[in-house]
This record gives sequence, C-alpha cells and structure tokens, in this order.
Amino acid sequence: MVGTPEHFETCLLCQRDFHFGHNRYDGRWIERLRAYICTPCLQGNWDGLANPEKIKRLFDHLDELGIPHPEPNAKGWIPLG
Ligand SMILES: [Zn+2]
Repeated sequence: MVGTPEHFETCLLCQRDFHFGHNRYDGRWIERLRAYICTPCLQGNWDGLANPEKIKRLFDHLDELGIPHPEPNAKGWIPLG
C-alpha cells in the first residue's frame, strides 16, 4: 500500500504549516485575500486582525498581488472573513 501523501499549506499570518486536505483541514483558503490562513489565526482574529506585524504581512502579500486592502472595521482592525 502506498500511503496518501500529507498535504500542508502555510498560514500567511503566522507562517506555520497546517494540514489542508485528506479529510483534515486546519485552516481555510480565503479567496478575497488570496491566502491560506490557519484555524487558530482565524479564531484568534474573528473580529478583525489587530497585530501590526501580521497586518503588515497581509498587506505586503496583497500589494504583491495588486489586491486592494480590506477596509478596517469599527475597531480599526482588519476583517479576515
Ligand atoms: Zn496562522
């Protein structure tokens, strides 16, 4: 038997690899941001991204792809969903 290869993606925000595929999804592809983001990052920032370091990483990524930055919410945080 040949085992099914593990499939991982890298979270844009925390740069950690997470399972993505073969019945295990520890994160999501966010089409609007064209990025994979892991579940802990999504859950930790459900009401918006506030960490300047991670916001910079996200904005650099969007700039690279020519995607406009998301509008900050009422708290001045960046929505991920
Ligand atoms: Zn993450």
